Amino acid sequence: MTDFSMLTDDDWAQRLTPEEFRVLRQAGTEAPGTGEYTDTETVGVYSCRACGTELFRSAEKFHSGCGWPAFFSPLAADRVIEREDRSLGRVRTEVLCANCNSHLGHVFAGEGFDTPTDLRYCINSICLTLEPKDDLSS
Ligand SMILES: [Zn+2]
Repeated sequence: MTDFSMLTDDDWAQRLTPEEFRVLRQAGTEAPGTGEYTDTETVGVYSCRACGTELFRSAEKFHSGCGWPAFFSPLAADRVIEREDRSLGRVRTEVLCANCNSHLGHVFAGEGFDTPTDLRYCINSICLTLEPKDDLSS
Protein backbone atom coordinates (compact mmCIF):
# COMPACT_ATOMS: atom_id res chain seq x y z
CA MET A 1 0.00 0.00 0.00
CA THR A 2 1.28 3.44 -0.91
CA ASP A 3 2.48 5.62 1.95
CA PHE A 4 1.09 8.91 0.70
CA SER A 5 2.99 10.93 3.29
CA MET A 6 6.23 9.92 1.55
CA LEU A 7 5.29 11.25 -1.89
CA THR A 8 7.18 14.27 -3.17
CA ASP A 9 5.73 17.07 -5.30
CA ASP A 10 7.31 15.38 -8.33
CA ASP A 11 5.56 12.12 -7.45
CA TRP A 12 2.23 13.91 -7.10
CA ALA A 13 2.75 15.81 -10.36
CA GLN A 14 3.05 12.46 -12.14
CA ARG A 15 -0.03 10.98 -10.47
CA LEU A 16 -2.33 13.96 -10.99
CA THR A 17 -3.35 16.23 -13.84
CA PRO A 18 -1.94 19.78 -13.64
CA GLU A 19 -5.30 21.14 -12.44
CA GLU A 20 -5.71 18.37 -9.85
CA PHE A 21 -2.18 19.09 -8.64
CA ARG A 22 -2.88 22.81 -8.35
CA VAL A 23 -5.97 22.30 -6.19
CA LEU A 24 -5.10 19.16 -4.20
CA ARG A 25 -1.41 19.79 -3.56
CA GLN A 26 -1.16 23.58 -3.76
CA ALA A 27 -4.45 24.41 -2.01
CA GLY A 28 -5.96 25.94 -5.11
CA THR A 29 -9.65 26.47 -5.77
CA GLU A 30 -11.58 25.56 -8.87
CA ALA A 31 -13.74 28.31 -10.33
CA PRO A 32 -17.27 28.32 -8.82
CA GLY A 33 -19.92 26.57 -10.86
CA THR A 34 -17.41 24.71 -13.03
CA GLY A 35 -16.93 21.51 -11.02
CA GLU A 36 -18.51 18.31 -12.27
CA TYR A 37 -20.24 17.51 -8.94
CA THR A 38 -21.66 20.90 -7.94
CA ASP A 39 -25.31 19.94 -8.44
CA THR A 40 -24.95 16.17 -8.62
CA GLU A 41 -27.65 14.19 -6.81
CA THR A 42 -26.40 10.73 -7.77
CA VAL A 43 -26.46 8.30 -4.83
CA GLY A 44 -22.95 7.21 -4.02
CA VAL A 45 -19.69 7.75 -2.17
CA TYR A 46 -17.15 10.48 -2.90
CA SER A 47 -13.53 9.42 -2.56
CA CYS A 48 -10.35 11.47 -2.44
CA ARG A 49 -9.16 11.99 -6.05
CA ALA A 50 -5.56 11.75 -4.85
CA CYS A 51 -5.60 8.60 -2.72
CA GLY A 52 -8.99 6.92 -3.03
CA THR A 53 -10.07 7.19 0.61
CA GLU A 54 -13.86 7.44 0.97
CA LEU A 55 -14.56 10.92 2.34
CA PHE A 56 -18.16 12.02 1.77
CA ARG A 57 -21.53 10.47 0.86
CA SER A 58 -24.41 11.72 -1.24
CA ALA A 59 -26.63 11.38 1.86
CA GLU A 60 -24.85 14.38 3.44
CA LYS A 61 -24.68 16.46 0.25
CA PHE A 62 -26.96 19.47 -0.07
CA HIS A 63 -27.60 22.37 -2.40
CA SER A 64 -25.86 25.40 -0.95
CA GLY A 65 -25.97 27.60 -4.01
CA CYS A 66 -22.32 28.49 -3.45
CA GLY A 67 -21.01 27.00 -6.71
CA TRP A 68 -19.17 24.05 -5.22
CA PRO A 69 -20.32 20.69 -3.88
CA ALA A 70 -21.48 21.10 -0.25
CA PHE A 71 -21.76 18.48 2.45
CA PHE A 72 -22.99 18.97 6.01
CA SER A 73 -20.72 16.22 7.35
CA PRO A 74 -17.86 13.99 6.20
CA LEU A 75 -18.43 10.22 6.01
CA ALA A 76 -16.62 9.96 9.34
CA ALA A 77 -14.89 12.64 11.40
CA ASP A 78 -11.51 10.92 11.17
CA ARG A 79 -11.52 10.93 7.35
CA VAL A 80 -10.64 14.62 7.21
CA ILE A 81 -8.30 17.05 8.95
CA GLU A 82 -9.47 20.56 9.72
CA ARG A 83 -6.93 23.31 10.28
CA GLU A 84 -6.86 27.07 10.50
CA ASP A 85 -6.15 28.92 7.24
CA ARG A 86 -5.35 32.65 7.32
CA SER A 87 -4.27 32.85 3.68
CA LEU A 88 -6.83 35.40 2.50
CA GLY A 89 -6.38 37.74 5.45
CA ARG A 90 -9.28 36.21 7.31
CA VAL A 91 -9.62 33.05 9.32
CA ARG A 92 -11.09 30.08 7.52
CA THR A 93 -10.94 26.38 8.27
CA GLU A 94 -9.19 24.32 5.64
CA VAL A 95 -10.29 20.72 5.05
CA LEU A 96 -7.69 18.12 4.09
CA CYS A 97 -7.77 14.38 3.42
CA ALA A 98 -6.57 12.67 6.61
CA ASN A 99 -4.93 9.89 4.63
CA CYS A 100 -2.84 11.80 2.07
CA ASN A 101 -2.97 15.37 3.42
CA SER A 102 -4.29 16.75 0.15
CA HIS A 103 -6.32 19.96 0.17
CA LEU A 104 -10.06 19.44 -0.35
CA GLY A 105 -11.70 22.77 0.43
CA HIS A 106 -12.97 24.65 3.47
CA VAL A 107 -15.66 24.20 6.12
CA PHE A 108 -17.94 27.04 7.23
CA ALA A 109 -20.19 26.99 10.32
CA GLY A 110 -23.34 28.75 11.37
CA GLU A 111 -24.55 30.02 8.01
CA GLY A 112 -28.15 29.06 8.72
CA PHE A 113 -28.51 26.16 6.31
CA ASP A 114 -31.35 23.82 7.18
CA THR A 115 -29.14 20.78 7.75
CA PRO A 116 -28.46 18.65 10.86
CA THR A 117 -25.09 20.32 11.55
CA ASP A 118 -25.28 23.81 10.02
CA LEU A 119 -21.81 23.12 8.69
CA ARG A 120 -20.92 23.55 5.02
CA TYR A 121 -18.02 21.47 3.81
CA CYS A 122 -17.30 23.38 0.60
CA ILE A 123 -15.26 20.89 -1.42
CA ASN A 124 -13.73 21.23 -4.88
CA SER A 125 -15.21 18.71 -7.34
CA ILE A 126 -11.76 18.08 -8.75
CA CYS A 127 -10.65 16.74 -5.35
CA LEU A 128 -13.30 14.02 -5.42
CA THR A 129 -14.26 10.94 -7.42
CA LEU A 130 -17.88 9.82 -7.19
CA GLU A 131 -18.60 6.10 -7.13
CA PRO A 132 -22.34 5.64 -7.76
CA LYS A 133 -24.05 3.08 -5.55
CA ASP A 134 -27.56 1.63 -5.62
CA ASP A 135 -27.84 1.72 -1.87
CA LEU A 136 -25.62 3.55 0.64
CA SER A 137 -26.46 1.14 3.47
CA SER A 138 -24.68 -1.77 1.81
ZN1 LIG B 1 -6.51 11.57 0.08
